[in-house]
Amino acid sequence: MKFIDEFRDGGLARGLAAAIAAEVDPSRRYNLMEFCGGHTHAISRYGLADLLPENVDMIHGPGCPVCVLPIGRIDNAIELAARPGLILCTYADTMRVPASGGLSLLKAKARGADIRMVYSSADAVRIAREHPDREVVFFAIGFETTTPPTAVAIRHAEAEGLSNFSVFCNHVLTPAAISNILESKEVRELGTVPLDGFIGPAHVSTVIGSQPYEYFAEEYGRPVVIAGFEPLDVMQAILMLVRQLNDGRAEVENEFTRAVTRDGNAKAKALVADVFELRRTFEWRGLGEVPWSALRIKERYRAFDAEARYAIEYASVPDNKACECGAILRGVKKPTDCKVFGTVCTPENPIGSCMVSSEGACAAHYTYGRFKDAAIVAAPAAEARR
Ligand code: SF4
Repeated sequence: MKFIDEFRDGGLARGLAAAIAAEVDPSRRYNLMEFCGGHTHAISRYGLADLLPENVDMIHGPGCPVCVLPIGRIDNAIELAARPGLILCTYADTMRVPASGGLSLLKAKARGADIRMVYSSADAVRIAREHPDREVVFFAIGFETTTPPTAVAIRHAEAEGLSNFSVFCNHVLTPAAISNILESKEVRELGTVPLDGFIGPAHVSTVIGSQPYEYFAEEYGRPVVIAGFEPLDVMQAILMLVRQLNDGRAEVENEFTRAVTRDGNAKAKALVADVFELRRTFEWRGLGEVPWSALRIKERYRAFDAEARYAIEYASVPDNKACECGAILRGVKKPTDCKVFGTVCTPENPIGSCMVSSEGACAAHYTYGRFKDAAIVAAPAAEARR
């Protein structure tokens, strides 16, 4: 398939792996964080970590939309869905995120709540149009990629006079989260998460452009290479990061030039600026309260703000004690550090949010990585029997 096969060519991947191996300095380590779940998925699915030299470490970041959604926000959505006559619409992965009391939106639906999976915000507007006698709430989540469509939905609802439509806005912002990771105790004081550079988001950057990353490349002295989600994109970005680190540079470079520009998508950014404004603070799973890291609906569109319409009050809820999602999202631990990984917690029965979406670090490792773990354990045993 054009524009897909070219970026999955095994021969080219081996060539890039050889270039990385030739250029790494054996006397140092390269600790690189892929912020996005899309990159985590590509690294796991295509076995890219196996192609890298031993001193290049890939650390999973918090860029998976459902993984960073705190339990309290899912609880809010379940409470909304329990209101008589209300229809709650949301994206598929959100349905399975564990909430308080062993519930999830999927389980609430099984108990009778009218919760509908939609492919886009436009679907939610359509449902509101088709059910003028019912209140319809779109439970909006995600990074800068899904924010413009939510803005469009609100503007369409206003233009059509759909007074039964509103949005429970939980959109979050990437640059604030990256700054928060670099400011974290683990990185700054304890040094338990050594971070030398970042693979920057793909889809998010098509909207916001590469410019917003320039601040923390300069401020924190860490290089960023924006990369597409195909395996060759990731390998090329790793090579570019290795070169920057070898040269002592900390710049923003763009590997994903086929889709990302410095300034991003002006129309999408204007839509977002028209409908949303910054929240002073927002809780992220794993990162805690992060200042100026999320969006809320502006006063001008208050009629479509579910938080105002239903007086939603947020309460923070701790994660399941067994779950290490918080540490995994901060890059402090790996999925296999969790005692219930692959036993009690599986994609069919997720205990934490990182096991829900295919972009979550635990789900990606469960799907593509655990057989390798088993092989590594089995190999020395087989050796001993010889
Ligand atoms: S394996 Fe499950 S419980 Fe453990 S950290 Fe991952 S999502 Fe949380």
